[in-house]
Parts: sequence; C-alpha cells; structure tokens
Amino acid sequence: MCDNKITYYVPKGFDYREHLVQCGRTDPFGGLALCEQHEHERLYILTKSDEPEDASYQDCDWFENTRDW
Ligand SMILES: [Zn+2]
Repeated sequence: MCDNKITYYVPKGFDYREHLVQCGRTDPFGGLALCEQHEHERLYILTKSDEPEDASYQDCDWFENTRDW
C-alpha cells in the first residue's frame, strides 16, 4: 500500500516484542497490516481480494448475449 510502518507488540515470554510491519503486509497475527491512512480501506481491500473469479466470465456471457440482439 505505502511505506508507512505499523507497530505491533507481540507477546514474547513475559515481555512484548516490537514488530514493525509495512502497510499492506501481513501482520504478526496473520491479519492485514494497514496504516492510519489505509485502515479505512481494509473492507474494500478484503472484499476485492475475495471476489470470485468467475464473476468476470458472467460479465462476458452477458456481453455476448447482448451482441446477438
Ligand atoms: Zn498505508
């Protein structure tokens, strides 16, 4: 996403370890690390990546059907 880094504190024994994760990368907890600027786009980014691939094929069929008219 950008060069901003998000700080995560991961439990390490009785202490916490500081982790800097770049915006758009996977955070230490397996989630998506986003800076304050991109945090509000989280839902959009996740929805976009989960979009089924065959959705484009349906668009194609629809387009060809309209051409036959
Ligand atoms: Zn960012």
